[in-house]
Amino acid sequence: MTAQPPSVPLIGLPHGVQIPQVGLGMFKIDDPDMAGVVDVALRAGYRHFDLAAYYGNERAFGHALRESGAARDELFLTSKVWNTDHGHTEALAAFERTRAHLGVDVLDLYLIHWPVPSAGRYLETWQALEGLQQQGLTRAIGVSNFTRTHLERLLAQSDVKPAVNQVELHPYFQQRCLRTFHHEHGIVTQAWSPLGRGAVLDDPVVVEIAARHHVSPAQAILRWHLQLGTVVFPKSSSPARIAANIDLFGFELDEDDMQRMRSLDRGRRTGPDPDSM
Ligand code: NDP
Repeated sequence: MTAQPPSVPLIGLPHGVQIPQVGLGMFKIDDPDMAGVVDVALRAGYRHFDLAAYYGNERAFGHALRESGAARDELFLTSKVWNTDHGHTEALAAFERTRAHLGVDVLDLYLIHWPVPSAGRYLETWQALEGLQQQGLTRAIGVSNFTRTHLERLLAQSDVKPAVNQVELHPYFQQRCLRTFHHEHGIVTQAWSPLGRGAVLDDPVVVEIAARHHVSPAQAILRWHLQLGTVVFPKSSSPARIAANIDLFGFELDEDDMQRMRSLDRGRRTGPDPDSM
């Protein structure tokens, strides 16, 4: 394993926890590809992996990690409690399964994957996560796909503030209001589908900005995220793209580039609406 590239910034979470601003998204990394992907990612300098019980590959990831010989304390591992495991007892059991599958004692960040407002149990689920953090079983806790309404309810009715909210965020869906709300409440924004699942890569504005900086469209988009201050974890199974997606520190977008990227917002999600999941 190579040393942590000093260029990947660390973002502060509560209690002195630090999360690398770039990680690898693990959704749709198939089990047969896992060992190769983890090996390539570690060599490229990734130390942060974004996982979830729902992705069905935690066991394969845990196995690949042990085979790699990577030092646990150099890694940042996130996982998430799935929608069918909301509730206090259910969430604790889901966490234990995740811990066993990954083969780790302590997780770095554990999230509620979706609020599932129709089930009405995210506050109860959150209390379970608070307990896990108090016991030292996860270093930080947060949420995913929470709208401002869900966050306001959580903040009003719980003792611990979410360290992060992981939401769909890319140039076509920039979430400016929610990002401002996060900023006001000290919640770190994590961007899922940071490349819009590839949909933004052919945009003429992105292509032009990338060409001028002699980088790929994906690198230009990821650099935009970094300059906004969001945490990103693009998914790739390709060794070349895994390496390129963390090679983001030899160039910088200027104010004009950032303004032009800002103009691409269409204000429409491509993924599910958190209120109807
Ligand atoms: P991304 O925006 O990361 O896009 C991934 C797609 O882009 C893949 O098809 C990949 O193909 C391709 N790609 C990656 N890098 C490049 C590149 N440099 N050039 C061209 N194409 C590229 O979408 P995801 O939806 O996968 O999101 C990333 C991560 O976010 C997930 O893996 C997961 O960890 C998290 N997530 C969380 C959700 C939540 O509800 N909390 C929901 C969805 C995602 P290839 O593999 O062939 O390179």
